[in-house]
Amino acid sequence: MPGADRVIVIGAGIGGLTTAIALRREGVKAEVFERREEPSRLLTGGGFMLWHNAILALRRVGLDTRVAAAGERISFHEFRSSSGRRLARWRIDPKAEECGAPAIALRRSDLNGILMQEAGEAVHLGARFTSFDQDADGVTAHFEDGSSVRGDVLIGADGLRSSVRGAMRRWHEAPPRHAGYTAWQAITRLPGEDLVPTGTFFNLWGRGLRFLYCRLNEHEVYWDAITSDRVRDRFDTIRYGKGHALTEAYRDWPGPIPRIVASTAEDAILPIEIFDRPPGERWGDGRVTLVGDAAHPMTLNLSQGAGQAIESAITLGGLLASAPSPQAALRDYEERRRDRTADMVDTSWWIGSMGRPRGALACGLRNAFMRATFGTFAYRQSYSLMLDTGFEF
Ligand SMILES: Cc1cc2nc3c(=O)[nH]c(=O)nc-3n(C[C@H](O)[C@H](O)[C@H](O)COP(=O)(O)OP(=O)(O)OC[C@H]3O[C@@H](n4cnc5c(N)ncnc54)[C@H](O)[C@@H]3O)c2cc1C
Repeated sequence: MPGADRVIVIGAGIGGLTTAIALRREGVKAEVFERREEPSRLLTGGGFMLWHNAILALRRVGLDTRVAAAGERISFHEFRSSSGRRLARWRIDPKAEECGAPAIALRRSDLNGILMQEAGEAVHLGARFTSFDQDADGVTAHFEDGSSVRGDVLIGADGLRSSVRGAMRRWHEAPPRHAGYTAWQAITRLPGEDLVPTGTFFNLWGRGLRFLYCRLNEHEVYWDAITSDRVRDRFDTIRYGKGHALTEAYRDWPGPIPRIVASTAEDAILPIEIFDRPPGERWGDGRVTLVGDAAHPMTLNLSQGAGQAIESAITLGGLLASAPSPQAALRDYEERRRDRTADMVDTSWWIGSMGRPRGALACGLRNAFMRATFGTFAYRQSYSLMLDTGFEF
């Protein structure tokens, strides 16, 4: 008999959908309950990197080829200063050969669309989770409209401000931690490769400002402008708009950047405050656990939040389908995932903190440090962290 016959998943993001897909492939009845009512609301968002580990994890559920085909393969990751000086350049293809999976950039909506299609009838929209009760025989999830569902296991895949996490009230834990910066995310239509070549992920570092960009396909480029709080505080977006504030902030940056910002429609720019949770808090209790950002939210600096959500979902799906009891499977899952995700959270936080200083001296020293280490030591360390997934592919 499998560890669980019926699994309730809260949240139809990348983590929840992948968990349900993994479980259903193992023959477990998994259902996803999502607060949003319109499928189109789930198919939004900017651009996105999926590193090799995420593609390898998706292979476990047979989705690696489809997801990779929806995106653009990345061959180089280039770090530059805000004057355009190259600090380091990573060659990605040899690593892709070595581990057997590419790194790709794609639209978040394309990834969500593939997962939604695969999860199919398992997804119930317009179901806002509010609370749960559990006893020796199972767990009951309650929804805002007064309905309830009963299952063997409840998985909170409901993101950074998880209500499932909140319903395990006895943790009394601190709220998510603000990283001290904002990501302004957008996709713009910019055909032709003159300004932005295909296959390179650009990562520029300035004084309290960063700018990431990458071609998504022959027509579109995605970008994230990352502004530390003290820079952002000077923006008057109410009077002049987001595009104007960012155009001013990046006015003197290398060639493509002012053009990329200027080409973007005002309503395509989405400011996102960046948060994580310091590792160490518990994820589960009895028949309840968490996956993805609900469990291990991290800053965007390693481009690994979704990758880790996918890895956690695959691990959890496999264990739940085979363990002798649901509770044993959940504790085993939490144990297996704790250290790896903690390393990701900490490393990502540390990288993000290097982007916050505004002083010329501090930024000059940081750039010198990046020039000295990012092409060699940091490259090796990043890859060893990324590919040390803890499971066989
Ligand atoms: C600017 C930015 C850039 C990023 N770039 C990358 C990148 O390049 N690569 C990468 O791997 N990661 C990246 N990430 C991280 C990635 O976006 C997240 O880690 C990932 O989306 C988490 O997925 P999730 O399913 O855990 O949570 P979410 O995507 O937050 O999904 C949670 C779902 O739960 C639903 N929900 C919430 N509450 C309830 C409720 N009470 N009842 C029912 N449903 C509920 C929500 O509506 C939502 O659909 C980035 C993040 C940011 C902010």
